Parts: sequence; structure tokens; C-alpha cells
Amino acid sequence: MLKVHNYKHTTQINTNTKCPPLDTLNSKSGFVFGKCLGSGSYSTIVEARAKNSGTLYAAKIMNKNHIIKSKKLKYPEVERTALLRLDNHFIVKLASAFQDTENIFFILSYEENGDLFSLIEKNGVLSKQLAQFYAAELLLAIEFIHKNNILHRDIKPENILLDKDMHIKLSDFGSAKILDGNKEDHMNKTESTICDRKNIVSFTGTIEFIPPEILKGNQPEKGTDIWAFGCTIYQMLMGKPLFKDQNDLFTFQKVLNIEYELPSSLDLDAKDIISKIIVEIPEERLGCKKELELKEIKDHTFFKGISWIPLGMKQIQPPISD
Ligand code: ATP
Repeated sequence: MLKVHNYKHTTQINTNTKCPPLDTLNSKSGFVFGKCLGSGSYSTIVEARAKNSGTLYAAKIMNKNHIIKSKKLKYPEVERTALLRLDNHFIVKLASAFQDTENIFFILSYEENGDLFSLIEKNGVLSKQLAQFYAAELLLAIEFIHKNNILHRDIKPENILLDKDMHIKLSDFGSAKILDGNKEDHMNKTESTICDRKNIVSFTGTIEFIPPEILKGNQPEKGTDIWAFGCTIYQMLMGKPLFKDQNDLFTFQKVLNIEYELPSSLDLDAKDIISKIIVEIPEERLGCKKELELKEIKDHTFFKGISWIPLGMKQIQPPISD
């Protein structure tokens, strides 16, 4: 298990001489930074090797000026709060967080096999078996997040990383909403604004994966993540988003009108589960009835043959052929 250090600049003195040397994870000087792994709207992710142990991490570096200018001050705090709470096989781990005068650094577990989006791009589509496997791992991640009173709000193949054994690791909790306590809930990291003729709507996330109620300006609920989960199943099997048009405004209209087609080539179980998830009323989505929680989804024939307990313990390997 990764050790989590303090976010603020503190000096930690290890007085327990029996302990093996720990990574010096709580300051920039403890790392050798390497190649760029990716970048997003508010961060650059680079390789970071701990000098003490040689362990490779991924450092998410966020420039403070950029965050302040974009009025996204809450983003790092929400992401950090969520990641500290979420210790799960299928969620990226935060090893430490610290800052210097210019940047905020998150030291994350290094997930070496890219993301689900790139895997879909590379293969065109995924086999039903593999899509079923990744959807099942994703569902367990969502179940865990929701049980911990967090909504992810930006579930999409780009944010699903693949670890060294090709299991999923859900990442990018900057758009998350913490549902409990006095903690600030969200920061609208990926808040976008779309104007149609009548409305100006702000929303958080990626338009192809956002349900209509959010586009209409309503509060997110668990059904927000379930909608994105349904869209992700479609993208794995068909190689393209369920809702997509020539620009965001047209895509926006398609989502609002729930205008989508499930082609005849799509697997019958997939068709059935997608059509039961992609429905207008959030509470009517499969798995969104409170008393049943996500059991309804797990019991769907799309997941026939999945052994949920060993899967949750990461005891089942992804069905990947070379
Ligand atoms: P966005 O603008 O999409 O919200 P972001 O600024 O929050 O992006 P991330 O989505 O967290 O940044 O990361 C951007 C990219 O960096 C990812 O798509 C991935 O390729 C790479 N990356 C992020 N985290 C890791 C990790 N833990 N291990 C390996 N690569 C990573």
C-alpha cells in the first residue's frame, strides 16, 4: 500500500529506526522527473522516479497561476480529497501531494499501459468478452466511489487508465463531487458552457458522456456516472461515442433529445443494457433505483459469467489475446 504524506510543506522525521527507508515522497527534491506522459487542461503528467527507492510514479503537476487565472482553485483539493478516500484496486492511488511556489504536485501510482480510449483506437473495437470485463471492473470502481459518497462526473475511456497487468484504474477526479460533510463539493474543472438559442448552460465533464439533466442545469446524482458508464460500454463495442455530431452544439441537442441508434451489429445483451441505462429520468436508469443499488446492473445478462467477488479481488485476468 502506498503511504500518503501531507499536502502542506512539512518536515517529517522518521524516528522509528527499525523501519526500512521510505521514499522521500513529500517534496520535489525526492524525485527525478522524466518524460511527459500526457497533459490535460490543468496539468502535465510526467514520470517521477523516487530517489530513495527507485519506484516509478506519475507526477501530476498543476501550475498555480494557471489554476488561479482559470478560477479553478478547488480542483486540486477536490481531487486530493477524493483520491485519499478511495483505496480500491480499480482506482489510481495518490502516494503524496505537495507544493512549491509555482506548482502543486500529485504523486500518483504509475499506470503503464495507457488508457482505454487508446486501446479502443488501436483495436477499432473491443471484443464482447473484453468490453464485458472492463465494464465489470469499471462498475466495481463506480460502486466503490458511490459508497464513499463521491460522484466522479467525468467517466469516459480517456480517464480509464490501464495498469501493468491491463486492469483498469479510474483516474482524473478533478471534476468529482463530494456529497457529504462541509467539504467543498466541486470546482467545475471541466465546466463548459453551451449556448443554444434559448439557454446558456454550464456543465462539468465531456459532452458526449453527460446526461441530459446535467445539460439542463440540474444537480448531478449517481445516475450521472451510470449514464457515462452506459456510453462507455457502447464506445468499447462500437469504437465511437454513442452521442456525437459535427460539433458540440449538435451533440448537445442529440443528448437532450436522447437521439441515438443501436446498430443491428451490436451484441443483443449490450443493446439491452445500454437501452436500459440511456433513459431520460435518472431514477429510471438501470441500477439507479435506490434499494437495488448496482445489483440490477450486475445481474443483467450482459454480465453473464462474471464472478464478481474474485473480479473485485483482481483475481481474474483480462481476456486479452496477443
Ligand atoms: P483533463 O483535461 O482531461 O481533465 P487532466 O489535466 O485532469 O486532464 P489527466 O486526465 O489526469 O489530466 O491526465 C492526462 C493524461 O496523462 C492521461 O490521459 C494519461 O495519458 C496520463 N496519465 C495521467 N495519470 C497517469 C498515471 N497515473 N499513470 C500514467 N499516465 C497517467
